Amino acid sequence: MSDNQTTAYRVLARKYRPDSFETLIGQDALVRTLSNALELGRLAHAFVLTGVRGIGKTSTARILARGLNCEGADGTGGPTLNPCGVCQHCRDIADSRHIDVLEMDAASNTGVDDVREIIDGANYRPVSARFKIYIIDEVHMLSRNAFNALLKTLEEPPDNVKFIFATTEIRKVPVTILSRCQRFDLRRVPNELMTTHLARIAKAEGISAEDGALIQISRASEGSVRDALSLLDQAAAMGADKIDEASIITMLGQAETSQVIAILEACFAGQTAEAVNLFLSADAGGAEAETMLADMLDLLHQASLIAAGASPGDLPEDQLSQLRAIADMGIAKLGRAWQMMLHGHRELKDAPSPKAAAQMVLIRLAHLAPMPTPADIIKTLQEDKAPASPAVPETSSPAPSSPAPSSPAPSSPVPSSPESSSSEVPPAPPPETALQTTNNEQAVTAAPPAPSADMPAKSDAPSFASLRDIADYFDAQNEKILNARIKRHLRVVSFGQHKLEVVVVGDNAEDLPQQLAKSLSTATGAPWLVSVCETGGGKTLAEEDLEIQNKEKSAAADLPLVASVLEAFEGAEITAIKQNDDEDDAPQASENIELAREISN
Ligand SMILES: [Zn+2]
Repeated sequence: MSDNQTTAYRVLARKYRPDSFETLIGQDALVRTLSNALELGRLAHAFVLTGVRGIGKTSTARILARGLNCEGADGTGGPTLNPCGVCQHCRDIADSRHIDVLEMDAASNTGVDDVREIIDGANYRPVSARFKIYIIDEVHMLSRNAFNALLKTLEEPPDNVKFIFATTEIRKVPVTILSRCQRFDLRRVPNELMTTHLARIAKAEGISAEDGALIQISRASEGSVRDALSLLDQAAAMGADKIDEASIITMLGQAETSQVIAILEACFAGQTAEAVNLFLSADAGGAEAETMLADMLDLLHQASLIAAGASPGDLPEDQLSQLRAIADMGIAKLGRAWQMMLHGHRELKDAPSPKAAAQMVLIRLAHLAPMPTPADIIKTLQEDKAPASPAVPETSSPAPSSPAPSSPAPSSPVPSSPESSSSEVPPAPPPETALQTTNNEQAVTAAPPAPSADMPAKSDAPSFASLRDIADYFDAQNEKILNARIKRHLRVVSFGQHKLEVVVVGDNAEDLPQQLAKSLSTATGAPWLVSVCETGGGKTLAEEDLEIQNKEKSAAADLPLVASVLEAFEGAEITAIKQNDDEDDAPQASENIELAREISN
């Protein structure tokens, strides 16, 4: 949304700006913490509010200032979470004209002098209110000297002075400052809550709006109440107080993030036509080809962060769940896609038609993305050569369908056709057989609960020697999500008999240990204990994969196996795998050579 629009349509956003914690939606955690602090009389001297733009930081700061200084309708109240709104302090703060509440925008006053003024003022008692309150917006913009000056006051703050800082970029605020503040993270308002909020306001304003339209607005606002209300305003003005879904979609116009994600998803699923069509419809909506590719790169980056177990930052919930699905492709594929996109993004500049060039990139990506990675193939080939998993000596395994240990079996790793589904199914021998061989070996030690002789089904429970085994097992059981979460979120501290100690990393994984214990117990028929440690542990499997992938990339040229890898791709030539530095060599532009080059990446 352009600034133009925000200023032209901000009536509702101003009218419904929250003036109490009750009207501040979607920030329950913040309100709870504050109310505890108030009840215990343990108010910090400084607060820092952080969150994306439009999320309500300034409104929250003002509500907090009112709560701190409110005296109640009868003039006898103390600090409260429910400022009365009628006392002099409440009213003056709401109008931004309270003599003891000073608002400053660090974005325009970054000098040390401005801060010095504040600090000097802090030494005087408040004129009329309980506290002298300094609200500093975009505090990360202060200069280093300004921070140093501020720090002195924060180290020994006068009793009746409070600081409320707001920032969109908490990482740019020095730790020395943060450590002296009580921090509150303002969350994006969840879509459902936002839609309800919009419906309430639409009703109060006499605007008739379709549910679907409000849902679209909620999504587009990406958790910002201010943006949502501006859009509602704009839509109401456009439709003369009648809002339908179709016109909202038209109004929102250009490529939304979700659209770009959909293009990526189609590419990864090998659905070339779908990807191109999505691109064309975004293009028809006015989206720039170059911007779309840049957005795709950005999303790949974030998906890779998720896949590696790192936090992708504060994203709207919709996008986060879509990105998680993409992250499940695995780091290797994401990395390959990233390189292709980066390459294509560069090509775009030289192309006579950026639109055509962008489509070519998508077609290439959709063609390549679903194929197994070199690491997959190498793994498969190695498994074919040495079918036994490390622990199992090849003795009297009666396993009927154990994979033939002889040939590199060029049949198995043939890449699926671009139209086939995307999931990273190992083209290997059916995982069950591999598992069974291990079972026969380890059943001796594992001692399942019911030690009946050679019972089929239940008693031949899988046994595991590592977290990798466990992840592979659930992968083979088609529990792709559990597999991906295990890889992303767990660092192993110790691994024992039906016992696992882990450190949980990344977001939204608190339930994972419990889920894993349950799934393992079900799978093995014996109780598993998964305990959580605070520190320690090695890399996550995802991180290991990334490392292996990187090593393989550099060592690829030396591996004799690479030859077999290339065989798996029809017509690919080994000459092209040698070096990747010289892209200008321009071999005869055969797609296979291109393919081989991408693989060597
Ligand atoms: Zn009041």
